[in-house]
Amino acid sequence: MVTSLNEDNESVTVEWIENGDTKGKEIDLESIFALNPDVAPDEEIAPSPETPPPPTPTCVKVNKIAKNRRTIAPTKNDAPSRDNRESKRPFYKERLLAYPVNGSRVTVSLVFMAARRKSNCVKEVEKLQEKRERRRLQQQELREKRAQEVDTTIPNYEIMYMIRDFRASLDYRPLTTADLIEEHRICVCVRKRPLNKKELSMKDLDVITIPSKDVVMVHEPKQKVDLTRYLENQTFRFDYAFDDSTTNEMVYRFTARPLVETIFERGMATCFAYGQTGSGKTHTMGGDFSGKNQDCSKGIYALAARDVFLMLKKPNYKKLDLQVYATFFEIYSGKVFDLLNRKAKLRVLEDGKQQVQVVGLQEKDVKCTEEVLKLIEVGNSCRTSGQTSANAHSSRSHAVFQIILRRKGKMHGKFSLIDLAGNERGADTSSADRQTRLEGAEINKSLLALKECIRALGRNKPHTPFRASKLTQVLRDSFIGENSRTCMIATISPGMTSCENTLNTLRYANRVKELTVDTNQVMEGVRPTIHAVDQLDLLDEDWLSISPQRDDLKLLCEQNEEEVSPQLFTFHEAVSQLVEMEEQVLEDHRAVFQESIRWLEDEKVLLEMTEEVDYDVESYATQLEQILDQKIDILTELRDKVKSFRSTLQEEEQASKQINPKRPRAL
Ligand code: ADP
Ligand code: MG
Repeated sequence: MVTSLNEDNESVTVEWIENGDTKGKEIDLESIFALNPDVAPDEEIAPSPETPPPPTPTCVKVNKIAKNRRTIAPTKNDAPSRDNRESKRPFYKERLLAYPVNGSRVTVSLVFMAARRKSNCVKEVEKLQEKRERRRLQQQELREKRAQEVDTTIPNYEIMYMIRDFRASLDYRPLTTADLIEEHRICVCVRKRPLNKKELSMKDLDVITIPSKDVVMVHEPKQKVDLTRYLENQTFRFDYAFDDSTTNEMVYRFTARPLVETIFERGMATCFAYGQTGSGKTHTMGGDFSGKNQDCSKGIYALAARDVFLMLKKPNYKKLDLQVYATFFEIYSGKVFDLLNRKAKLRVLEDGKQQVQVVGLQEKDVKCTEEVLKLIEVGNSCRTSGQTSANAHSSRSHAVFQIILRRKGKMHGKFSLIDLAGNERGADTSSADRQTRLEGAEINKSLLALKECIRALGRNKPHTPFRASKLTQVLRDSFIGENSRTCMIATISPGMTSCENTLNTLRYANRVKELTVDTNQVMEGVRPTIHAVDQLDLLDEDWLSISPQRDDLKLLCEQNEEEVSPQLFTFHEAVSQLVEMEEQVLEDHRAVFQESIRWLEDEKVLLEMTEEVDYDVESYATQLEQILDQKIDILTELRDKVKSFRSTLQEEEQASKQINPKRPRAL
């Protein structure tokens, strides 16, 4: 029994009863016509003895209609789609209906109404067939598309397809402005930048996927022993994950903006951009500096300043009569330079109350966002002046931009926004050049110290190893107190060529937060000391009596055993000592220099005295001896310091050679 006519593949579905079961199958029209020539279209009908009577007038009419298929009116009870389908080949249908025939192999019983009462079995068969057909078509399309697209000139094209297939299986739910801005004491997030021109031109692959508002995936290409390649997909979770289409404004909204209020509420806030050079730290913090236009109005520095001035107008804060100041400085190789004062080198001192002071740092009084923008411009041009490339220098230094609120001169709150040095340079201890070694060591140390300080902030730990680096030392007041909040934006490059650095960045960022959110871990063993400020100060005094820098360094290295080998610790120790000694020698030399001017004057007076006819020889001799003794004492002291400084320089050189010449991993 023919139950339906399948237009798509020119076949009919037939059904029959076999041993009491309804069976079904599909037979193509060709076969039907071959077996039943009498139902075949007009001309092809071969006359045969069994040919049934000639078509009735109805049939002729149908024939005519068949020639004008589209005009056929739908049968009353048919659904529109069915009508359409059936109307395409009304001729066959009518024929089949009009002439019940006996084929040699198949008995086709033409009962039109049966098509409406299909058995389940046949429906199943049809469905399967349809599905198979659809799949086949889809696969073919995909193959054709791929064949066109497979660009074997792309290095790693297999990896590219693996990543594409993986992505196709993901459900994307990116962050939107509708998402809740959560209150975090410590917020750690990740921002992926788009592939840049250089990466695009060398056909680098984008190996980073951000499927949702807080997840980052790295598709790391790996190779098996048999050389087949595969992807290792690593997943990280943060407070927020920003994909490559996210604007600075959006990043700001979830990261630094919630911290603006903190400083109005008498707190300390810090916001760091951490990542490899070229991953977008300056773009995020400072603004868009690509091409000719230097637009710092879209950076987090400027956006934060804008909101500070907006907040200032709120009645609650207006009555506090707060003044806004800005500072902008750079920390390079453990030294501080004022970017708002022609890069003047500044000293960092700790006073009796353990308050850290950057002596002589210019705090500029600012009245509006425009004034802040001007300062940022001045600072930025100062930062990179005389540099062959902006990145060459900035990758080795931390830039700190601060917005300070004062009330009658007294500190009310402070927001420090930091564009950190590139994290890709681990302690480059193998370099033959001392400057490079010291730079690397300082960056390595300061980033380790930063991580520990943030972790300590999250756990209210009584001691933070802030003295281990200049960066953490100058930011010390931001890592203590219950009203301190911090945010880290880990910026990552999307390219496969940056994969290792990207993973290092993500691991670092993960450690910063992972431990701080794990309250169970905090509660294990010792109960955390909350508000241990007094205790902290006491502790500090003890620490100060020995070498505080060295002890903090020791603590830091102990906390990071995995990354800091004993040899590396010795090297760091030598470097720290070196930096400390250099400061001492310079300071003493300056003092000696000033003293020498005084000696000269004294000696001049003394010599003038001898020109008198009756001068006091005894007094002359005594005074000269005094001056010479003093000179000898002071100069001997300076000479000894220089001597031991020189031997420390040699120690550092030795220590650098003790370390495995292999370049250590970045943080
Ligand atoms: P870093 O400061 O980390 O060394 P930059 O901020 O200088 O890196 O960024 C390197 C390059 O990438 C710059 O040309 C910058 O304009 C571009 N860039 C960085 N982040 C983005 C982004 N999110 N969107 C578009 N371009 C970006
Ligand atoms: Mg930069």
